[in-house]
Amino acid sequence: MEKDIFCRIIDGEIPCHKVYEDDDVLAFLDISQVTKGHTLVVPKKHYDNFLATPKSVMHKVMDVAQTIGQIEIKMLGAVGVNILTNCYEAAGQTVKHFHVHVIPRYDVGDGFILEMKNNAEGLNLPAIAEMVKNELK
Ligand code: 5GP
Repeated sequence: MEKDIFCRIIDGEIPCHKVYEDDDVLAFLDISQVTKGHTLVVPKKHYDNFLATPKSVMHKVMDVAQTIGQIEIKMLGAVGVNILTNCYEAAGQTVKHFHVHVIPRYDVGDGFILEMKNNAEGLNLPAIAEMVKNELK
């Protein structure tokens, strides 16, 4: 199977602006810089997305993402941070290798748009909550 772009970055075949590395995790600046300092945090071992990643590895990635978010507030002058991960094409995932976006926020016109509309009308919320709760047991 052909290597995805992040496996190639991890293997040093493609350059990146690295901000952190340990045995399991690599963090580097996103090439698109949706906002200044936009960073990607990835596991070095390949997993297709967040949902397909073992919890122990996911925890390590999220740990680094949290620290980078804190640093962006402290050092880049960000006044907020969006931490997000897209799973599957339908959710906007374009690179099939688990990655967490850490996107510093500066003001409303800073380049990042996330629209979360209220579509609750007509939904049976107790039934949905019950279904998920039962599966979690
Ligand atoms: P997704 O849409 O899968 O959640 O995000 C993939 C991200 O990877 C995009 O924000 C895109 O800009 C970034 N990206 C794609 N190719 C490269 C690359 O070669 N280098 C870096 N640093 N980022 C990349």
